[in-house]
Amino acid sequence: MGKTSATKYVFVTGGVTSSLGKGIVSASLGKLLEERGYAVTIQKLDPYINVDPGTMNPYEHGECYVTNDGAETDLDLGHYERFLTSATSQANNVTTGRIYQSVIDKERRGDYLGKTVQVIPHITNEIKEHVKLLGGTGQYDIVITEIGGTVGDIESLPFIEAVRQLKWELEGDAISIHLTLVPFLSAAGELKTKPTQNSVKKLRELGLQPDILVCRTEHDLNSDIRRKIALFCNVEKEAVIQSIDAESIYDVPLLMEQEKLDRVALRKLGLKDDTDVDLKSWKEFLGRLKNPKHEVHIGLIGKYVELRDAYKSIAEAFIHGGASNECKVKLHWIHSEELEEEKCAYLLRDLDGILVAPGFGDRGIDGKLSAVRFARENNIPFLGICLGMQCAVIEFGRNVLNLKNAHSTEINPETPYPVIDIMEKQKSITDKGGTMRLGAYPCQIEDGSLAKDIYGRELISERHRHRFEFNNHFLEQYQSSGMRTPGINPESGLVEIIEIPEHPFFIGVQFHPEYKSTVANPQPLFVSFVKAALTHAQEK
Ligand code: GLN
Repeated sequence: MGKTSATKYVFVTGGVTSSLGKGIVSASLGKLLEERGYAVTIQKLDPYINVDPGTMNPYEHGECYVTNDGAETDLDLGHYERFLTSATSQANNVTTGRIYQSVIDKERRGDYLGKTVQVIPHITNEIKEHVKLLGGTGQYDIVITEIGGTVGDIESLPFIEAVRQLKWELEGDAISIHLTLVPFLSAAGELKTKPTQNSVKKLRELGLQPDILVCRTEHDLNSDIRRKIALFCNVEKEAVIQSIDAESIYDVPLLMEQEKLDRVALRKLGLKDDTDVDLKSWKEFLGRLKNPKHEVHIGLIGKYVELRDAYKSIAEAFIHGGASNECKVKLHWIHSEELEEEKCAYLLRDLDGILVAPGFGDRGIDGKLSAVRFARENNIPFLGICLGMQCAVIEFGRNVLNLKNAHSTEINPETPYPVIDIMEKQKSITDKGGTMRLGAYPCQIEDGSLAKDIYGRELISERHRHRFEFNNHFLEQYQSSGMRTPGINPESGLVEIIEIPEHPFFIGVQFHPEYKSTVANPQPLFVSFVKAALTHAQEK
């Protein structure tokens, strides 16, 4: 269904603690509303000063999620895309830094006509404009806006104030949902509502009365507790929704449907809720996910493995690809710094597949090269993503083409064989923020290749985030020695895919296939990689 009347807005705030799962609740609500026929998009407002998370270390922020239009964004946008059908863009992620940058640019241009530029109204107005941008496209019936951080944080105050004003201005076209925690005190044997009461009080001090409360809990909220929360927080009892701990994030839409979160939201927005939600394919996916017939062990080789959020989209893509194959994917997180050549046999030999992860810089690079070599020489299914593909090229150069000390110029600018080199367009760039080759680019795939079998199409589009590339100066040498390059960008000639046809499954991609994997459309490379790992496991 396309857009029908005025765009409706749903604001999602969080209280008590961080990490309550606002992103998953927002995505689940979005999914349910979409299933009811509404066109929905979800936006995240992040209160930090960075213009985007692209320059942040994964230790700070987890994965940086890249959209089709090349925005480097918060990893919650990944959840939005994995749950919904609509793709996100730069407009779906706005930070304090971006807001200030835009206000300061306007001030320098003289747009404020001599006025003193202040947090209120200039910063709050800018936030409001960014919130209304998506609604203004005419594409969406409902825009869900998640506000990062926890109510009471100093840095989120202008966002809360902007939401307060918008709710006032939009009257019946906007509601707010507050996510809180109802902790269980085991010593008392009781669920406690006080943190929720205090969090709502804080929100109301800021002028925002929530319409719906979503309460994270480890135990069911009984009717008395719901009544108590409703009474003390000025929220209807039906609008006190429990969000009980779930086995998988993919259970949450079903749990929210049981709690009627979508119905309550629609009623409060003055929208119809009379169509039945059809979660058939979602339930089928969950059925396959929870009742696997097979199991494979895949090694993920990276330098941030102690921080799982750094590889969020890869882990989720394996969940989708695994479910497609009715196969449980057990990921073994292997630290590339600890993977010395002599340890490979012992650490990697029982794996059914090896994935070398994306990354930047030289830390752990030798471990990644050793992992590639082990996968190549032992016929273990291999998938290299971005830096992982570049490592496959370096390893092949050194050990098959005998190019001693071949390397990427990112890591060794003095290498005699720069088989991976900086892209021409990147040479003059000195700024780090938002300057890589970012976003979706087309890739033309040759017939008769593994990639063509996997995608079943000649022209694909995948998302990128890199500065270095396969050095085409070495192309012929590689091709004549058994490494194929069947995927090429049709405009620039950049190599996007490499393969070793002699190997049962050896593929490297310069792009990031993980960003496009969703529940509805599991990414084909992951589906095929899991399948190859399964074959390997069965043949062992
Ligand atoms: N560091 C490499 C480059 O910039 C790879 C980037 C990545 O893995 N995302 O090309």
